[in-house]
Amino acid sequence: MRLTIVGSAGSTAGPDAPASCYLVEADDADGRTWRIVLDLGSGAIGPLQRYCDPARVDAVVVSHGHPDHCADLAALSVLRRYGPAADDDLAPLTLLGPEGLDQRIVQIAGSEDLTALATFDFTAVGDGDTATVGPFSFTFARAWHPVPAVAVRVAGPSALADGPTSLVFTGDTDRCDEVLGLARGADALLAEAGWAHSRVNPEGIHMNGTQAGTLARDAGVGELIVTHIASWVDPAGTLELATVAYGAPVTHAVPGETHVL
Ligand SMILES: [Zn+2]
Ligand SMILES: [Zn+2]
Repeated sequence: MRLTIVGSAGSTAGPDAPASCYLVEADDADGRTWRIVLDLGSGAIGPLQRYCDPARVDAVVVSHGHPDHCADLAALSVLRRYGPAADDDLAPLTLLGPEGLDQRIVQIAGSEDLTALATFDFTAVGDGDTATVGPFSFTFARAWHPVPAVAVRVAGPSALADGPTSLVFTGDTDRCDEVLGLARGADALLAEAGWAHSRVNPEGIHMNGTQAGTLARDAGVGELIVTHIASWVDPAGTLELATVAYGAPVTHAVPGETHVL
């Protein structure tokens, strides 16, 4: 499994990074490469085209309906309807996300005739739901955020050894038991740390660096990748707190970097 950071900026796109977007790729037993996009936040559809044809990925999984996680679904719909793939009669693209995400696409696209939505085959997912796409299997857990939100565990073939590997993406969430349970024993945890290290913050929205590191430690994950740090926050402070809490070095999710799992 290969995880490429397309966008990692928290809350809005930043000068050096689009908002939340991650490309996960794996090869099946026949050598076909399968591609899954986790989140398609504001600004991500541009650089995603460096790595693949977004119109032809195998599925999109979206954590929740905030613009920094889903805004470019409307752009993807445009690519599929009017871009180079438009003449290829593509089947609707598998889209997994929390309830109401389909209406968010309509709101963003502004298409009252629902043509933007028709390019997707949407299934609402919630706590405990599972799905399979090619060599990938997904398990979802409820995240703790002001809108319906999910975290996702992606299992697929390892690129490092025979057998499976697993990646858990928190989406946006405060620390909660559902996400802890989902992350338990994962090979890699891609965890948000949306709150700046210097602030006292309200509950039920984001984690800070300490909480992301503590979650990784308590879940016993093999690797912690910290993401969703806002562009106006110095990541060094967040990463230092995460490292102390996790008890081992952590990685910052930097656009353009690929993590082999
Ligand atoms: Zn966010
Ligand atoms: Zn959010």
